[in-house]
Amino acid sequence: MNSDAMNSNADDIGVVDKRTQRRMDGLDYTKGIIKFRESIISTIPPAPPEGSPAVLSSSPASVPASSSVKVVIRKRPLFPHEEQKGEFDVITRDPASSGMQGMQGMQAMYITLCGEKIRARRGVTKTITNVKYPCHQAFDETHSNADLYNGVAKPILEHACKGSTGTIFMFGQTGSGKTFTMSSIQEQIALDIFAAANGQPITLIYFELKGSNTVTDLLDPAKSALKLLASSDESTVVSGATTITVTSADQLMSHISDAIARRETDATQANATSSRSHAICTLSIGSTGILTLVDLAGSERKEDSMYHDATKRKEGAEINASLHALKECIRMRAIQQNQSAAEKSSKHVHIPYRGHNLTKVLKNSFSDRDAMTVVIATASPGVSDTEHSMSTLDTVCMISGSEAVDKTADVREVEDWKPDVEEVVHVKLWTAEAVDAWVRKTKGGQFGDIKLQSGMDGKALLRLNSQRLQGCFGNHRDAKSLGDNLFKAIREEVARCDAIDKKRRDMIIGVANEKKSMASVYSKALAPVNPNMRS
Ligand code: ADP
Ligand code: MG
Repeated sequence: MNSDAMNSNADDIGVVDKRTQRRMDGLDYTKGIIKFRESIISTIPPAPPEGSPAVLSSSPASVPASSSVKVVIRKRPLFPHEEQKGEFDVITRDPASSGMQGMQGMQAMYITLCGEKIRARRGVTKTITNVKYPCHQAFDETHSNADLYNGVAKPILEHACKGSTGTIFMFGQTGSGKTFTMSSIQEQIALDIFAAANGQPITLIYFELKGSNTVTDLLDPAKSALKLLASSDESTVVSGATTITVTSADQLMSHISDAIARRETDATQANATSSRSHAICTLSIGSTGILTLVDLAGSERKEDSMYHDATKRKEGAEINASLHALKECIRMRAIQQNQSAAEKSSKHVHIPYRGHNLTKVLKNSFSDRDAMTVVIATASPGVSDTEHSMSTLDTVCMISGSEAVDKTADVREVEDWKPDVEEVVHVKLWTAEAVDAWVRKTKGGQFGDIKLQSGMDGKALLRLNSQRLQGCFGNHRDAKSLGDNLFKAIREEVARCDAIDKKRRDMIIGVANEKKSMASVYSKALAPVNPNMRS
């Protein structure tokens, strides 16, 4: 269920835009999130006694543990400048995820979706929905770059140094920490690769792919354009790319830094170009080892494209097309790897790497027999990025062959506001018992002798005119006046209920309107950050 569906109700009164409302009510939501965090900590089973075998996780969520495609989620910290804009943290690492587990763990990240319902008669209810995303490993702001490198990247480096293919992808929204994380991995790889390669020669190529066809050599100070050529073994090679044989950590790191800087220069000139291209860094080790590090272009949501002109929208569509092609290849690769031997011989899983130039140049990562792949999804924790973070995690869950755990499973009400007016049940909603009780006690009990048809509820009572009500008093000598008086008393009660309902409704609309006008002041002062204006 998406948040819009959750917030819609026939009785709703439109309020303020979702992002502004969430930030305005941040305090209530934060309290709810803190409670949620406490509750998930309290469900962790006690640590096993020392010496017993390690338990991976008590989490019921699961991803195929043996897959050669691993999915890792990293949440970056919320920045002070975001907090100043009313942002608050909606991402929580599942505390049941046990520590570092190499490549075998099953962990999870939660995203809290903050919602609000304003219902005409009932008032305002704020809700939080905590959606769980299973993954192989989850990192939050308490983890360092070294934790991530040791747990995730180092095994891939070692795999490539043994002559196989290893690939690391950074996937996520612009500003969520892809380049930050990839740069730290590259730095550490530069320090470790020579020892791990044990004397095998190492070469580096580094290029950028923009759109579907524009390839730029990031190792060339002139940033020359490169061509993609089909080679005899069905793969696609980047022709003419500068290839540097590297022999020391310092030299390798200096080439990598230059390449990153060349990509970044464009960013300042042309409004975050770096976030709109894929950067592909390939280290070849010995005759067969290949380590490919891919810093992908920022994913886009349709909603973001409203900030763009036509060219940028076209670029955005191209980015999404390339990411889609990549997702399909990784997903099919994971399916292929998880097939049993019997399934493998009976059912061929096709990896559609010809779908895009991005996947063509990465063919080895999908087709080499022992290829190991890690997708690191990065997410920004701010509430305004909720939907984008959810779509990132939806994508990587799909890649890993799991799904977000039931999206409606953990809904909690965090705050309720009800108008300070008595609540009444309208006559038309009375049960037969309520009708009977009311008739007998109203107006000092003067209608006590009435004989009502059994099962007469409020709706039926309202259909009776004075004459029919007179009839209910049988041969009573005051039947006529009793019937007339009861008819009047019923109409009075209806008018009283209507008036109270109207008062409640007016108060709720008043609150909604007040919020609307506050919101317009609020949005002007604390405008949401345009996601595409970030670096
Ligand atoms: P992306 O490449 O996804 O667009 P960046 O890597 O450029 O995002 O990160 C955006 C900003 O956030 C940068 O200033 C970066 O230094 C900072 N950042 C990202 N991840 C972290 C993190 N885990 N810890 C601290 N700062 C981070
Ligand atoms: Mg980046």
